[in-house]
Amino acid sequence: MSDRVPFTTNDVGVPAPSDSHSQSVGPNGPLLMQDHYVIQKMAHFNRERVPERVVHAKGGGAYGELEITEDVSQYTKADLFQKGKRTPLFLRFSTVAGELGSADTARDPRGFALKFYTEEGNYDIVGNNTPIFFIRDPSNFSDFIHSQKRRADNHLRDNNMQWDFWTLKPESAHQVSFLMTDRGTPRSWRHMHGFGSHTFMWYNADGRKFWVKYHFKTEQGVENFTADEAKALEAQDPDFHIRDLWTSINKGDYPSWKVNVQVMPFEDAADYRFNPFDLTKVWPHSDYPEITIGRFTLNRNPENYFAEVEQVALEPSNLVPGIAMSPDKMLQGRLFSYPDTHRYRIGANYNELPVNRSVAPVHSYNRDGQGRHNNPADPVYAPNTVGGAAADPSFYNDGDSYNVTGEIVRSAYTLHKEDDDFAQPRALWEKVLSDGERANMVSNIVGHASAPEVTADMKKRVVEYWTNVHPDLGAGVAKGLDVA
Ligand code: NDP
Repeated sequence: MSDRVPFTTNDVGVPAPSDSHSQSVGPNGPLLMQDHYVIQKMAHFNRERVPERVVHAKGGGAYGELEITEDVSQYTKADLFQKGKRTPLFLRFSTVAGELGSADTARDPRGFALKFYTEEGNYDIVGNNTPIFFIRDPSNFSDFIHSQKRRADNHLRDNNMQWDFWTLKPESAHQVSFLMTDRGTPRSWRHMHGFGSHTFMWYNADGRKFWVKYHFKTEQGVENFTADEAKALEAQDPDFHIRDLWTSINKGDYPSWKVNVQVMPFEDAADYRFNPFDLTKVWPHSDYPEITIGRFTLNRNPENYFAEVEQVALEPSNLVPGIAMSPDKMLQGRLFSYPDTHRYRIGANYNELPVNRSVAPVHSYNRDGQGRHNNPADPVYAPNTVGGAAADPSFYNDGDSYNVTGEIVRSAYTLHKEDDDFAQPRALWEKVLSDGERANMVSNIVGHASAPEVTADMKKRVVEYWTNVHPDLGAGVAKGLDVA
């Protein structure tokens, strides 16, 4: 038997009657309802897809390992961040707006989402390749994404709609600036940085609290495509980034990133010059320098794209003792929306799938539901007196608690001294970009806003938006768009 291929079976191991022929009344006759083998095959095929992610649909990913090289126990007690610790991980990269078959090299932010399989349970950092985002309140999220996706009438993407939203939301200027530099079209996933983007809380074994931001710095160096190169690849190889990652790992060329953090003492947040929880802002390095705490490497490709990349369920709500949320409103919104999307896409028991399963033992009282195969035994409730698991609050030593008071309102964040939607993109333009990068940023904006659907009135608004970032940038865009 061992040198023969295995025989085909149905899904419960019963030998298949044929790989080629349905059961019919005579060779030319109609087919039979009783051919349950073929009926199972057809019915299962109809159910092969789960709903694609409404954002970040197209992506790729790989397994790897995090190694912590520095002692940061004064900031966090999280086991995965203790010096010398090695933790397995999965990293999923993605574009944001395109559908599952869309081109990898499109101008878009890139998702950079990590799942760490720690001994204290799963810890996920669901970030992007930019340290910031387009909006600061989750109530705008679905509107923002609708403006980046397709029109209702002709099902086309529409740059006029995109600029309409962006120019009405000046807080978007920082992220749109990043998007319109050549970092909006990275050469590969290996050649870009990742960021946790949000502010998170760390607390140490004594319960002392800090705010942190994560920066994952590519050790391959940042490399980008020009707009023309990226456009050409959209046609030549829409899967360019998936192919690049899979091929390099397959040949043993393992990409790696340095893990850096910015750490802000808890008390600094109240009167820091920028609102430190506003997702459209960075913390300037001169205030909070990056500290390197370790690195991670990707060293193993998934074996099954659907099972691992399509069904991996990343959620910022997966936090471990020593790490907690901050009052960043976008983070608060994502704590709900990410697990909710997984429950919708792959069912309530998505955490039982191998790619999502914790390596730490699970003693949860959540039970049953579609697809459940690892149901906890009795007792089925807590508290109980029959030896079932009991919660142990000492893991958290009140590190994640802090005092908040205020009226219940619907309001923008309170402004801090230097909060301004244009100041940080202006700093990017003035002190970070080279002359060549500035020229490309202008031509990338002009190219995007020159799409035939962008109206003359919208072009004026585009010029005004960029003039607010910097007059030279506005002038360059005005010239390119032929706006007086
Ligand atoms: P710094 O000069 O200390 O830092 C500038 C940062 O920009 C560096 O992290 C640099 O890191 C990154 N950078 C370099 N070239 C580009 C580029 N073409 N596009 C995007 N980022 C780039 O200044 P500040 O910390 O005061 O920040 C100034 C501005 O830099 C900010 O307003 C923000 O727009 C941008 N920035 C700031 C970051 C932060 O966390 N403070 C992070 C990233 C950008 P590298 O070359 O390795 O990417």
